[in-house]
Amino acid sequence: MNGRDWQIGRILGIPIKVHVSWFLVFGFVTWSLATGYLPEALPGLSVGRYWVMGSVASLLLFGSVLLHELGHSYVALRYRVPIGQITLFVFGGIAQMHREPPGPRAEFLIAIAGPLVSFTLGGLLLGLASVADAQGLQGLIVLGFLLGSVNLQLGLFNLIPGFPLDGGRVLRAGLWAWSGDFYRATRQASLAGQGFGLGLGLLGAVLLVGAISGTIPGPVAANGGWIALIGLFLFGAARSSRRQAALRASLTRMVVGDLMVRNVVTIPSELTVEDAVSRYFLQHGFDGFPVQEDGRLVGMLAVSDVQTLPRSLWAWRRVRDIMQPWSASVEVSPDTPAFTALEQMLREGESRLGVVQDGRLVGLVTRSSIGRFLQLHGLRR
Ligand SMILES: [Zn+2]
Repeated sequence: MNGRDWQIGRILGIPIKVHVSWFLVFGFVTWSLATGYLPEALPGLSVGRYWVMGSVASLLLFGSVLLHELGHSYVALRYRVPIGQITLFVFGGIAQMHREPPGPRAEFLIAIAGPLVSFTLGGLLLGLASVADAQGLQGLIVLGFLLGSVNLQLGLFNLIPGFPLDGGRVLRAGLWAWSGDFYRATRQASLAGQGFGLGLGLLGAVLLVGAISGTIPGPVAANGGWIALIGLFLFGAARSSRRQAALRASLTRMVVGDLMVRNVVTIPSELTVEDAVSRYFLQHGFDGFPVQEDGRLVGMLAVSDVQTLPRSLWAWRRVRDIMQPWSASVEVSPDTPAFTALEQMLREGESRLGVVQDGRLVGLVTRSSIGRFLQLHGLRR
């Protein structure tokens, strides 16, 4: 969703962004309120008033979704789970957590906070609207009932127990607490999400077909369309969560020793770049080599290092002049979890790491070797 988000401010230190798709919802909701709901609930006002009230209601609806997400974010921050941003888009909002919750209890409380905010808001608005004196306040009362019931629906919808919806997170928290296995719980809760997504999709399709063929009243068609879209969206999000959990689980089980390339070719540091290119890069076809000097590892030489040196200097510079010196950031041990190695590569911007055991180079692990492993296990398309 990057690049199409428009930042509108910061709350609790979190950037609040609006995705372009949200403007579609704003337009649609304002239009349907101004031309359908409001003229029916409050007859006799001018067309302009309906549109103003419709826009105000849409903005307040936006505020309701934002408060829901802030509910999640507030509790997440209490558990030191950083929130990258809150984005409002066509199907609601997302508070992007930068880390998984530290435990099932935190997961449960973070997940339930959003619906709790929505239920509280909904209850308050409906309560106020029903006790308000009707004299001259009809407009506010209608808006209060409308927003109150929207908030209740928001809370209820999000409690559907399919990951990544809030109810699915509650389910995951329970499964996590029960089995102690975070990834397994994620896979199971996501599977439930796929099931509910499929169910909603089918329900929406049935409503849509019924409305089109005339067996179900017309206005249901729009709802059918929305329900089907939300179902598809939930199905897709749940499926990718399930795949990701499977991938992370298999990566946490694998160690570098399972994935590393064992026949490592090293380059002597005193070789000229010219010779390194013709005798190593072209001969072996690798993108990078560890560099040795007197039997010690002293650096790593990659194609990119050679590329930065003008061709005319290749015969005059030695490998040691242009290599990256050896450091802890390019080194792992055979027992390092593959996932940690991958994170290290991404963090340090390295595409290969030397695998060192008892001070001796025993292998090389590359981004492409991890990629190949994932591909062979059907974890990457
Ligand atoms: Zn939520």
